[in-house]
Amino acid sequence: MRKKAVARKPRVVKTRNAGTMTESAFWSFIRSALRQKSRWWKPITQTKMNARRAYKGPNKRQKFEYQCVHCTKWFPEKKINVDHTIPVGSLNCAEDLPGFVNRLFCEVGDLQILCSCCHDSKTKQENESRKKS
Ligand SMILES: [Zn+2]
Repeated sequence: MRKKAVARKPRVVKTRNAGTMTESAFWSFIRSALRQKSRWWKPITQTKMNARRAYKGPNKRQKFEYQCVHCTKWFPEKKINVDHTIPVGSLNCAEDLPGFVNRLFCEVGDLQILCSCCHDSKTKQENESRKKS
């Protein structure tokens, strides 16, 4: 009995990194490298410093707390995100690169502190409006 030929997906060609990376793997690699570097971008650190105050609650190991600009509540560092007011957007090809870099490495005025909850709902809204357009 002959086995039915499994309908193979067309193979994605590995055009990058000595034939080991697909185009999309390559851009995800570049994206994460740039995002990693943005952790040491001063406006990001400054935005966090500007939004913090000394913590006086029961947790002895917590020194500071940070205020979410949206719900105005205070959160420990783990629960906040530095948000780009202009969404950084996608990086899937070389043409996306200049815009992505400029929006990711922006100045203090284009950054804000959001708690995880407010950040998630902002991201959700952005994704929904992207689908519509
Ligand atoms: Zn919030």
